[in-house]
Amino acid sequence: MRRAIYPGSFDPVTNGHLDVIERARKLFDEVIVAVAHNDEKQPLFSLEERLDLLRETAGRIANVRIAEFEGLLVDFAKAQNAGAVIRGLRAVSDFEFEFQMALMNRKLDAAVETIFLMPKEEYTYLSSRIVKEIARLGGDISSFVPACVAKALNRQFAQ
Ligand code: ADP
Repeated sequence: MRRAIYPGSFDPVTNGHLDVIERARKLFDEVIVAVAHNDEKQPLFSLEERLDLLRETAGRIANVRIAEFEGLLVDFAKAQNAGAVIRGLRAVSDFEFEFQMALMNRKLDAAVETIFLMPKEEYTYLSSRIVKEIARLGGDISSFVPACVAKALNRQFAQ
């Protein structure tokens, strides 16, 4: 069984994340989308909300499982018997941080390979952060996120 972990904050899940999940699931028997607790990032959505939005969207896709994790990613990967970590690369600006993370994870556990996937060009400028910013300012986010996520964002920023 070839299993991969796709970790992130998913605060909230966007069409860019879903594009990466679609690509990853074609390469692996199972993809575990793993939501990091990540309290230090002070997410807009609680862990439960982030998990629910993923379950409503990616959770329905065959061979995709939604999970949460705390602590070291390589420990979670080992516990799940996963040999690969999936990360999305949008632009050169992602590269430095991702490169550092990938090599550090390799140092921590040489058995876990990091694989980078590029989304469709139209998603390369998309991030959870920018979608939250547009929603906060009352902009239309319907083409960036699934409908349930747009609804949840509009609810968050409703006066
Ligand atoms: P993190 O807090 O780990 O950066 P994110 O939820 O922001 O978590 O992102 C998780 C992963 O998804 C990262 O590898 C990130 O580069 C990737 N990602 C985020 N948005 C996109 C996008 N629009 N296209 C491709 N990959 C993306």
